[in-house]
Amino acid sequence: MAFTEHTNFGGEDGFDFENRITSPEYTPGDLDTENPLRPKTLAEYVGQDKAKENLSVFINAAKKRGEALDHVLLYGPPGLGKTTLAGIIANELGVNFRVTSGPAIERPGDLAALLTNLSAGDVLFIDEVHRLSRQVEEILYPAMEDFALDIVNGKGQMAASYHLPLPKFTLVGATTRAGQLSAPLRDRFGVILRLEMYTPEELSRIVERSAGILGIMIEKEGALEIASRSRGTPRIANRLLRRVRDFAELLSQGIITLETARIALDRLEIDEIGLDANDRRMLDAIIRFYNGGPVGIETIASIVGEESITLEDVVEPYLMQIGFLSRTPRGRIVTKAAYDHLGIAIPSAGSPQQTLF
Ligand code: ADP
Repeated sequence: MAFTEHTNFGGEDGFDFENRITSPEYTPGDLDTENPLRPKTLAEYVGQDKAKENLSVFINAAKKRGEALDHVLLYGPPGLGKTTLAGIIANELGVNFRVTSGPAIERPGDLAALLTNLSAGDVLFIDEVHRLSRQVEEILYPAMEDFALDIVNGKGQMAASYHLPLPKFTLVGATTRAGQLSAPLRDRFGVILRLEMYTPEELSRIVERSAGILGIMIEKEGALEIASRSRGTPRIANRLLRRVRDFAELLSQGIITLETARIALDRLEIDEIGLDANDRRMLDAIIRFYNGGPVGIETIASIVGEESITLEDVVEPYLMQIGFLSRTPRGRIVTKAAYDHLGIAIPSAGSPQQTLF
């Protein structure tokens, strides 16, 4: 495979989020490898110890009582393993796993059809659950609470209402934005779990596991190098593994060594802490145009030519996690750590952001 195919990320003339190799969001290129790489049991699922411990207690209790598990809400940035964990919950319970997403359920009837086809104990997974319409949500409330569908048919005097019992099921909802969930919906989840970004050691275990499944030879140091540049996100780690493998075939007989990983990731313009050209340009824009901030997200979005929602969901979580960006009521501020990393001198005393340092 030609190197040029991998080196056009974040070209000089603008942002390129769609093809961004470090995007934590799902891209069609992930399709072939994501499914075989998904762990099937809690024991195989790396990290997230707190969430796993809680879940295993609840799953065992539900199994012992022979009842459906309480509804579970999983939240956190994209690519951290929410869909995978939902599948594991179904697998550990030994029930069917039905998958859909907020935007896919357009009308109340779509949801009613899904719900009436469930069997007792099944897990219904709704990704992007914050994007359900209000009318659909209203069908969901009695379904979650009383396991029933309340349907009104017709209008005025001719209206008839039906109360249709449903099998006891478990709804697993996933969202990147817990804050956007309506309060009545959030309150109906008995278990709410936040997924955290992964440490390089955890990601390294994920990379080694994936390499084993895909038949890729990798040295420990090579795995850790990929892990350290994967922005705390398994989806990115798995994607980088595949890209580095292409380089390893040409450079080191297919074996991913530390050196091959370094060369490959440098060529992909992903620096040693996982920042790519787009991150650097966002930080750079705040520094150059707004003296490091504070500046509102809408303004940053217009400077870099990207939607604010993409910046908030995809770029910012990692920059905040590593302490490069700080969110204040007056806007975003680039921190000293980011200046140091970018090799840019901190503005002179007296500028508004100085108070932060
Ligand atoms: P999300 O639903 O949060 O966007 P996914 O569940 O689709 O994320 O995970 C993306 C990929 O990362 C999956 O293909 C899976 O193989 C891998 N992955 C996620 N979490 C883990 C984990 N804890 N251990 C091993 N692999 C994981």
